[in-house]
Amino acid sequence: MSASAAPRAAGDDPGTLLARLDALRAADLPVRGGRTMAYVYDSGLPGTEELATAAYARFAGVNGLDMTAFPSVVALENDLVRAAARLLGGTEATAGTFTSGGTESCLLAVLTAREHARRTRGVDAPEVLLPETAHAAFHKAAALFGLRAVTVPVDPATFRVSAADVAAALTDRTALVVVSAPSYAHGVIDPVAEVAAVSAARGVLCHVDACIGGWYLGHLRRAPDAPELPPFDLSVPGVSSLSVDLHKYGYTPKGASILLLRDAELRRYGWFAHAAWPGCPVVNATLQGTKSAGLPAAAWAVVEHIGTEGYTELARRVHRATGDLVRGIGAVDGLRVLGSPDASLVAVAADEPGLDPFVVADEIRQAGWYLQPQPAYGSSPATLHLTVTAAVAGEESVAALLEALTAAVSRARERGPAVVDPALRAAAAASDPDALTPEEIDVALGLAGIGTSGALPDRMAPVLAVLQAMPPRLTERLLPEVIGRLYRAGE
Ligand SMILES: *Cc1c(COP(=O)(O)O)cnc(C)c1O
Repeated sequence: MSASAAPRAAGDDPGTLLARLDALRAADLPVRGGRTMAYVYDSGLPGTEELATAAYARFAGVNGLDMTAFPSVVALENDLVRAAARLLGGTEATAGTFTSGGTESCLLAVLTAREHARRTRGVDAPEVLLPETAHAAFHKAAALFGLRAVTVPVDPATFRVSAADVAAALTDRTALVVVSAPSYAHGVIDPVAEVAAVSAARGVLCHVDACIGGWYLGHLRRAPDAPELPPFDLSVPGVSSLSVDLHKYGYTPKGASILLLRDAELRRYGWFAHAAWPGCPVVNATLQGTKSAGLPAAAWAVVEHIGTEGYTELARRVHRATGDLVRGIGAVDGLRVLGSPDASLVAVAADEPGLDPFVVADEIRQAGWYLQPQPAYGSSPATLHLTVTAAVAGEESVAALLEALTAAVSRARERGPAVVDPALRAAAAASDPDALTPEEIDVALGLAGIGTSGALPDRMAPVLAVLQAMPPRLTERLLPEVIGRLYRAGE
């Protein structure tokens, strides 16, 4: 169904509207229950979502833009920043900012470093040094803020960057070095201490992207039976900033992340102030202007409610489940886990030529599980990504997942891999993404299995196979066309 029925002049009654919203949700993946193993995080704790919604409702109309008009916002954000700093190696000097999400935290880290490099080191053609596995948000930051992204390959077996490779890529123009704790694609922690040391030796800032894993790992290491974890937080010498999302393993509603910085002086480089206009002078710590205090309020309520003990217990459960899952997947014929996951994210590759991970994803989706396809890139083959959350951490759920996965693998084996027409592959390699005409784009999307309507097919493996066969720049040209066909004001 579509929401496109024009609003009635008189307006519908609330019951009808909520029913329409519920109907829209019918085609979505479930956000609770743990079977959607990307995008969503379910603590499985009853009442938490209701608490968050009630807290949000109380603050929804409060504007976080002006903390002098709404001092409650300062109190909420300071509490959250303090909690993150205490968990992740901060000191009395640590400063922080509540943001709308991991992407905004990463953007602000890069912007802060660019300004710091410009004003303290005179760097006017700044670079940001990124392991191949760094999150796309940092490439977005480089594109938006005019830095050159310098990519460093990672070890093809461990998927970690090496400090020696980072040291070799550092220049007088490097404004920031990024490491992941852990990386999204493979769930492994880069050698934070070693990389931060070589960066600091050159006077370069170092950001730890702990967006996905920071809240989880910070609590896990508090457990009496915690696994050995390498140091990864602000306490590591040379680490100047760290991002940690609350809307991932903090299990808060979406729109909640924290950027921690070593001190308020560094944080100040990323802020924006403007008084030269006839309106009220503006000071922005984030990229947004008007912003709802409902988000920090909901995050605050969930963080206070689950508490350190609660998060530690959730982390232990997730850790145990991830271990069971990794061992279980290792025992499934035809599959292997890439690298050695340090956290709760697992990348699964196929171990035999006739088995296509994307076909496995299609098959298991029909059984009610969503595993996220990750196309091959650099030294990483095509994989399926699994984010393990507390809701799937029960022994029974892991067993059910392994059973569904085993069955999906044998069906995928029978079906065979998605194949890409060699002529299409050759055409893709030869085409210039910047010179494509609208007609050529229509033809390309048709060949990829996507009609001009933009409707996505039930089976994604053939589409993903085509995407994977294209050079990334061509994919970057075509994907927005696909998505652009979904978003349009006309009927
Ligand atoms: C999720 C994630 C981000 C970006 O965060 P969003 O909340 O999706 O904007 C950045 N880095 C890593 C490692 C992530 O997993």
